[in-house]
Amino acid sequence: MKETSIKTSTLDLMKKYDFKTAKKLGQNFLTDETVLKTIIDCSELSKEDCVLEIGPGLGVMTQILCEKAGRVLAVEIDRKLIQILRVSLFGYENVEIINEDILKLDLKKVLEEKFGSSPVKIVANLPYYITTPIIMKLLEEDINLRSITIMVQKEVGERICAAPGGKDYGALTVAVQYRCIPRKILVVPPDSFMPQPEVESMVVRLDFRDKPPITLKNEKMYFRVVKASFGQRRKTLLNALSAGNLGKTKDELKDILARNGIDEKRRGETLSLEEFARIANDLLS
Ligand code: SAM
Repeated sequence: MKETSIKTSTLDLMKKYDFKTAKKLGQNFLTDETVLKTIIDCSELSKEDCVLEIGPGLGVMTQILCEKAGRVLAVEIDRKLIQILRVSLFGYENVEIINEDILKLDLKKVLEEKFGSSPVKIVANLPYYITTPIIMKLLEEDINLRSITIMVQKEVGERICAAPGGKDYGALTVAVQYRCIPRKILVVPPDSFMPQPEVESMVVRLDFRDKPPITLKNEKMYFRVVKASFGQRRKTLLNALSAGNLGKTKDELKDILARNGIDEKRRGETLSLEEFARIANDLLS
């Protein structure tokens, strides 16, 4: 990357192309060098790595990804940014830009086409209006991911990394921690972006586990139990599960909880991954 500051590069590109950011697309461009360096360092990239960047924006971080990684795929929804990206990434031979909505993309097919069977690292400053759907898509699709280093709202970062029992622990926590080991990296203030978002942000890194921390008979049933348990946060676990269409009567659910040593009066947010697994597995026996 050239020796100008990223704030200057961002302003120059926006001025040159008369680009106005769109709030509805979550366009808050990162302009803090230190934060950018932290994201890159923490992604631990080498020339062997294949990287997917979601929402490259003006391409400021993408340039560094191209320098550090072997191959880079950048998926950007905004057609106006594609023209700018072609210029800001001119000369980098290892990048491909796709003008698509990440949520509509057949990610498995595209990643296999571009990167074959190589594992993929995701590095992104995510658009906040669709943070959770993007994370869930990355977790649910059968794709070969190694790690995800992302900027998210601080509140989402807290939820991803939460331990059982607290207000942040929920369905997102359980979904992420089933597949990954999450780590908080850095809290980022609003003035690190242009324009400034209304919330604080956080960089988190998720490392995919070699194998899940719990043994499940059926993943779908596990996620149905999790969804039911958090669906009615103020209800006791027994009442929440009873309302969750799990195909069992209240008495049957009461027995399942009792024989697994789980107090029916507890709330979903106090259960560990392992306790959710015990309930899900028993529902299928
Ligand atoms: N990477 C740049 C940076 O760090 O400054 C931009 C990050 S900005 C927070 C989010 C980016 O995601 C914007 O460029 C926005 O246009 C793009 N975006 C929003 N919705 C998207 C979607 N559904 N699919 C792909 N990109 C999207």
